[in-house]
Amino acid sequence: MLPGGIDAHTHFELPQMDTISSDSFETGSAAALFGGTTTIIDFASGPPGTRDTSLVDIARAALARANGRSYCDYGFHLIINQVPPMAKLMPMLRTIIEEYGITSFKTFLAYDNLLISQDELLRLIEACKQYEHYGALVTIHAEDGASIKALIAQHQQNINSNTQIKYHPLCHPPKSESDATKLALQLASTVSAPIYFVHVSCQEALEALSAIKKCGVSGVSGVKCWVESCPQYLFLDESLYNLPPAEAAKYVMCPPLRGTKDIEYLWRALLNGEIDVIASDHCPFMLHQKLKETNFSKIPSGAPGVENRVPLLFSAGVMQRGMSLNSFAKVIATNPAKIFNLYPQKGVIREGSDADLIIIDPRPTQTISHTSHHMHVDYSAYEGMQVRGNILYTILRGKIAVDKTTLKINCGTGKFLPRNLKIGKNVL
Ligand SMILES: [Zn+2]
Repeated sequence: MLPGGIDAHTHFELPQMDTISSDSFETGSAAALFGGTTTIIDFASGPPGTRDTSLVDIARAALARANGRSYCDYGFHLIINQVPPMAKLMPMLRTIIEEYGITSFKTFLAYDNLLISQDELLRLIEACKQYEHYGALVTIHAEDGASIKALIAQHQQNINSNTQIKYHPLCHPPKSESDATKLALQLASTVSAPIYFVHVSCQEALEALSAIKKCGVSGVSGVKCWVESCPQYLFLDESLYNLPPAEAAKYVMCPPLRGTKDIEYLWRALLNGEIDVIASDHCPFMLHQKLKETNFSKIPSGAPGVENRVPLLFSAGVMQRGMSLNSFAKVIATNPAKIFNLYPQKGVIREGSDADLIIIDPRPTQTISHTSHHMHVDYSAYEGMQVRGNILYTILRGKIAVDKTTLKINCGTGKFLPRNLKIGKNVL
């Protein structure tokens, strides 16, 4: 028996590349429960391609959009793609935190319409530092947008027009991830503020983060960084991009899948406690959405995984690599609860906490397949993979939500979780 899983990174109904990710709040949150996850944190974002929407309006719209539509409990990170001047930013953040219960803010250092400048990032980090008592936290997608753009241009404008998917990882190299990671760490260190790195995928970036965890940045104390990685970076490698386009497109995501050396490094880091959180970055697209374009830079980015995260990690981490159940519970539930102000309501089995539980039988072997999963997507990134362990029950606030293969609760049972309760500022 373990605490219910907390997936701190999902994208239900995410608009991208003129389409929208295929899981709705209804289907995605139900699939989460089947996969042992009782809480997800999704993203509140403005209309695609816009930068001038009020951040407060974005928060309000996200809450309204999900209201009554979730099976599991949920919260939001707010995507910020424009950081107003401090005098405007501070009251906005206060409203979002106090009235809307959103305390974490997602930023990007890459991708048109999303990326913010270094000045903007530093301003947001400073503002969140001032609301540290609420646990306000900046999360970051660390890839260097300028170098990625230049690499894509070089590949696609040359005589060969290298638009095939095998060029996708070459245009998003580990160096662009580690450079952006180091930059963000440096900025956070100047104001001694914590920062959370989403979907860390490679050795180079992780080395920079682990060094900070151990020693701080150039002697500056007080910098706390949290590291998230995802199953796709632990189970799948970049050779998949050499498959025929109809197969390779399934794995187009940013950052891309990496080499086997990175996978081994990530596993070692996970077992050593250098990775704090495993989240899914669940962002599913149907095959027809993935296959509409053949140019890798125009294929919607992301893969499904909200239902697979807990079973995959239980099997490969606990059953195969001897990860302790406590370490497993930490990365799938307790740490994200602590980092994102849900603890001790969530992420722990304790009197007074929500009784979110999963009960796993470690003996049976299952085969992952899109024919049996509950996510609204017509392929699995892990098709045919065998996993040891079977989730018998998923229990949400004391009620059986999933009994083996049956969903036992109604849509709308999932509650929005405001995270402004001052129950402990990033207590990890
Ligand atoms: Zn994501």
